[in-house]
Amino acid sequence: AGRHRVAIIGGGSAGISVAARLRRAGVTGITLVEPSDTHWYQPLWTLVGGGQAPLNLSRRPEASLIPDGVRWIRRHAQAMDPDARTVTLSDGDELAYEHLVLAPGLQLDWNGVPGLAAAIGQDRVSSNYAPEYAPRTWELIRAMRSGTAVFTHPATPLKCGGAPQKIAYLAADYWRREKVLDRIRIVLVVPDPALFKVPAWSRVLERVAARYGIEVRLRSEMTAVDGDRREITVTDHASGTEETLGYDLLHAVPPQSAPDWVKTSALTDPASPQGFAAADPYTLQHPSYNNVFALGDVANLPTSKTGAAVRKQAPVVAANLLDVMSGRAPARRYDGYTSCPLVTARDRMLLAEFDYDLRPSPSFPLINTFKERRDMWVFKRYLLPPVYWHGMLTGRL
Ligand code: FAD
Repeated sequence: AGRHRVAIIGGGSAGISVAARLRRAGVTGITLVEPSDTHWYQPLWTLVGGGQAPLNLSRRPEASLIPDGVRWIRRHAQAMDPDARTVTLSDGDELAYEHLVLAPGLQLDWNGVPGLAAAIGQDRVSSNYAPEYAPRTWELIRAMRSGTAVFTHPATPLKCGGAPQKIAYLAADYWRREKVLDRIRIVLVVPDPALFKVPAWSRVLERVAARYGIEVRLRSEMTAVDGDRREITVTDHASGTEETLGYDLLHAVPPQSAPDWVKTSALTDPASPQGFAAADPYTLQHPSYNNVFALGDVANLPTSKTGAAVRKQAPVVAANLLDVMSGRAPARRYDGYTSCPLVTARDRMLLAEFDYDLRPSPSFPLINTFKERRDMWVFKRYLLPPVYWHGMLTGRL
């Protein structure tokens, strides 16, 4: 069958966006390796867990999103040999390529915290990070009238760094409206020294947390879960102490890493403790294999992993791949743009957009995004999903 001209591994936000852009540029011989028949718009899961959107709005058949002219192999990649330019598929077959776009997303490590894998999805434990649990988050929030609610943030890089705290704000806002907030103790466990990487937004979030009476534990991490006793262990890295905390609701975000088969491949970045794939931060090309590009959650880039970042990375990968295919050096550069829509209430949002230098890079320069805004909430809930399905995934935006 010969070599596939371009093999794209993963048909999520990144893989479909790049495929669509390459097709628009007239590239033929594209093969997509994607095991799932469902494509998820994950940013909506925060609103699903907060009772603001139904899960099915976040789901579309994968087949409906694959651009015409792209061949779909419905299997998963399980090994890569970039010297031989082959990918081993789940049935053991080898796929040979000329150019590779690596976009399989990241892996949720439910086993990374002792007790978490057994507790997740049971009793009072949920997570917006998986579609099978996100609706349960809302059931637990809605049923709660008193007690302790704990929201945790893992100590690894994660997709959408704001998501672990957004759901705490949505829950608190709901309990405030139900007039039970004063009977609920809310604890937010965060490994970093601040609520957000960019100080200007961190200050706003501190006020939001204070407004709801949320106890913020900085430099702290959930290090064990006992689902039977409804207790977690919180390790405070500043003081080195451990505390046992009882909960009546636990929203847990698992540690995250590169898929295992990426970690063990030659494309992994030795500098990444979680094994994320190596890529030049500006061109997104692999430093040793110039026919390989990585983008999206799998790539070890010094910026936050978001779909918004993927929106800016996909055109760079497509353009640079075209350069490489015609024997030129990659010329397009990604500046690290990422954005985090920080939902702070059922109808309010802060839109944090910044680049590699943590410089604000606003899409709407005329409005003040250091303020919680209703127009930004409407933008996230009602405008971003159609922009995603019809603009980003078709390579138009
Ligand atoms: P994904 O979209 O996850 O796609 C990976 C694809 O690879 C999947 O289709 C998967 O089936 C496939 N795959 C997996 N393994 C293999 C394999 N072995 N072989 C082949 N294919 C494989 N981003 C924002 O911009 N704004 C937000 O508000 C926001 N909120 C979020 C809230 C939550 C709760 C979560 C979980 C994420 C959120 N994100 C948000 C992050 C965003 O969803 C991701 O950053 C984005 O989807 C990354 O795109 P990707 O293509 O790299 O990975």
